[in-house]
Amino acid sequence: MGWVSLGHKHFSLMTSHCTAVQFGIIPPAGRAVSLSDVVSLQGKPLKESLGEITYSASFVEWFSEEARRVYGDIVPSPAKDRKIFLLKQPVGVASIITPWNFPSAMITRKVGAALAAGCTVVIKPAEDTPLSALALAELAEQAGIPAGVFNVVPCSREKTPSVGEVLCTDPLVAKISFTGSTATGKILLKMAADTVKKASMELGGHAPFIVFDSADVDAAVSGAMASKFRNSGQTCVCSNRFLVQSGIHDRFMEKLSQAMDAELRVGHGLDPETTQGPLINSRAAEKVAQQISDAVSRGATLLKGGKRLDGSFMEPTLLTDVTTDMLCMKEETFGPLLPVVRFNTEEEALAIANASHVGLAGYCYSQDVSQIWRVAEALEVGIVGVNEGLLSTAEATFGGVKQSGLGREGSKYGIEEYLEVKYMCFGNL
Ligand code: NAD
Repeated sequence: MGWVSLGHKHFSLMTSHCTAVQFGIIPPAGRAVSLSDVVSLQGKPLKESLGEITYSASFVEWFSEEARRVYGDIVPSPAKDRKIFLLKQPVGVASIITPWNFPSAMITRKVGAALAAGCTVVIKPAEDTPLSALALAELAEQAGIPAGVFNVVPCSREKTPSVGEVLCTDPLVAKISFTGSTATGKILLKMAADTVKKASMELGGHAPFIVFDSADVDAAVSGAMASKFRNSGQTCVCSNRFLVQSGIHDRFMEKLSQAMDAELRVGHGLDPETTQGPLINSRAAEKVAQQISDAVSRGATLLKGGKRLDGSFMEPTLLTDVTTDMLCMKEETFGPLLPVVRFNTEEEALAIANASHVGLAGYCYSQDVSQIWRVAEALEVGIVGVNEGLLSTAEATFGGVKQSGLGREGSKYGIEEYLEVKYMCFGNL
């Protein structure tokens, strides 16, 4: 795990958007802090930050090994006097624009692949979480990555549109790789269209989590806890729409309610007991509070939580009797709200699950093997968890369908996103 020295010089670059500054817990100049401390200084509970750094490092390791296997093909030719070579070449300069919710891992998942392909990168981290990007730049320099290959351009919220415009329109940039909201992704795609840049988009999700009657209820509860409350509900693959079949509904709700009481602790990110840190800012907390009041006003039953706490902290909240007309079923939540819809048939569950303009992740809990295959194939998403609530690893692809994005990260497919294939036709060799 990497360590990095962050003195006042670095922190003074962060301007007023930095949560570390808001907390008033800036380390003294020159003190060595771990990469996970840096993530927690930006708001995430320490245990999760440690997990993020391990996860983040796994991409660097995996892609550096996979770089050995980036090569093309010599293809048997239909003509005797011609040879066909397919050569893989780096696309060139890649603009990397990342969100705040995984301030380190969203960078290494892109940059690991880009460097393995032979590209150089210009990273624009989220305004709220630039510290991890700067810490990684420091480590890249220490690791001997040549100057000009790994570049970071942190900027304020006010400057973001103009910096974004350069990153998406400059003719020297060959590719943009973005992770963030669907709305921002569309803006960037439009800007990049003029110079026809390659684009990879990892956008928003609104994952369904389906529990069928045959499910192992304990496994479903533990999957629900992991996939809902990680990072206080602020991940793109977080379960947002819980669909629970009538026969298991009451048992599931009872055990889930007990698990929420036993396992969730709201508090400061650097307190080791904390599982639920603050939401990224007060706008995020307000959005969750609105979804809760909208659901309750339309007939949902509030079983747990429901209140906004000081600042951007939010109580973990459990709702039942939720219906598809409620805001929490229509728009991404990005917070610790767990709404439950009761359903009767598999067809009904799939219709609700697929009635979304986004399709990143989906979860299914069942012990009926033919049902598992049917549902996993029918879900309109890029990633499916079957009896499993945590999904991401460097070895597998990550990406969505519909308005959840374009392209894939992770695995060998992640490197392909940064490569061009040149067909070289040689005659008379
Ligand atoms: P966001 O779209 O507001 O911001 C993401 C990044 O885009 C930030 O760096 C921001 O500064 C930048 N940005 C915004 N406007 C820009 C512009 N005009 N030009 C250039 N850059 C601009 O998203 P967010 O709130 O930071 O992140 C949350 C969203 O990200 C959620 O919708 C979540 O689902 C999504 N997300 C997706 C994945 C995935 O892999 N699919 C992973 C994490 C988060």
